Amino acid sequence: MTLVGDRYARHRLIPDWDQDLLATSTAVIVGVGALGNEVAKNLALAGVGRLILCDPDTVAASNLSRAVLLEPEDIGRPKVTAAATALARLAPDVAVETRQADLAAGVGLGELADAGVVLGGLDARRARLRLLGRAALVGTPLVDGGTFAWGGEIRLRMDPGEPCYGCSLTPHERGESDLPWSCAEIRADGPQPASIVATSIVAGWMTLVALRVLFGNPPEYRMLRIDGGTGQTAPVTLTRDGHCPHHRPLDGPVHPLSVDHHATVGELLEALPPGAEPLTWAPFSVPGQCHHCGRHHDGDDNGHGQQGQQAQPSRCRDCGRTIRVRRSERLRDADPGRRLHDLGVAPEEILSVATTTQADGQAEFQWHRLATPTPTGTSGSGSTM
Ligand SMILES: [Zn+2]
Ligand SMILES: [Zn+2]
Repeated sequence: MTLVGDRYARHRLIPDWDQDLLATSTAVIVGVGALGNEVAKNLALAGVGRLILCDPDTVAASNLSRAVLLEPEDIGRPKVTAAATALARLAPDVAVETRQADLAAGVGLGELADAGVVLGGLDARRARLRLLGRAALVGTPLVDGGTFAWGGEIRLRMDPGEPCYGCSLTPHERGESDLPWSCAEIRADGPQPASIVATSIVAGWMTLVALRVLFGNPPEYRMLRIDGGTGQTAPVTLTRDGHCPHHRPLDGPVHPLSVDHHATVGELLEALPPGAEPLTWAPFSVPGQCHHCGRHHDGDDNGHGQQGQQAQPSRCRDCGRTIRVRRSERLRDADPGRRLHDLGVAPEEILSVATTTQADGQAEFQWHRLATPTPTGTSGSGSTM
């Protein structure tokens, strides 16, 4: 598309703004709901060169009042696809990649490591803690937001050692609870009350912080609370809880692999040292047999998209009775012919691989990074899932 004039002419007048740097930057947006829509719109208009959008959900009518990129015709479509369509119209020069998956299956640790900033617009506590943990593993700066009825909070973690959202929870709360994150006084299992007002204010702050992170000039504060009722927007001091587990970086070198996430399990095992035991970050379902009729099921009877959830009871495709599907994180438990992405392994994932040294029989852990996928199909853009 030919453009008359420079769409970024005003940006270039802003002190400390670097349009060329933005054009070569990548931001990962986890959660393409209300906040994710607004943040994606802002970052695309600002001229961030590459956006990776990650969300497993489809568009519902209740999204439309708070999501600038979604239209009534999009109901039932994946949120990431609908948002990418709108972004292509708003900012055609921005490369948008879509991952219709949960975080661990959608964006590999290698991709997170290479991104300039990660933005989280998640409303479930467990998903937010997972994002903190994964960002900590590779040390990527994380900007996280949440809305209240007339305000909200943003949090920035530049370094895995800094206090995080998890530090402000009790150990019990940090457990596998999946309550919405913000206020205990709000009905714990219901949707959050929020409108485009709080969404756009919080997303504006998230974008400001993310751009300053990309420019190498992050703000001093690590948390900001915005209260539209009192008119106060103020930094909040956070304290590190030594027992909070969401600060652990990958230790040791990361070895590059020759195969990508489209490879089969067998091809991965061939690319690893003999006897290596590669592990996934989220369990996948393992092939087995129906105890009632003996039908073999191949392990995809309950999909990988909802990793981290309790295994849902599955039904046998032949006899219709409930079968127990075993779940595993050992890739050697999978059918060697299965493709890694079908087991929920993300593009450019960094896999934990146990190897046993012959000398003392002790297991040793190594990190192995899947290769960058080569574009398949006719279009170089869009999903790599
Ligand atoms: Zn913490
Ligand atoms: Zn059966």
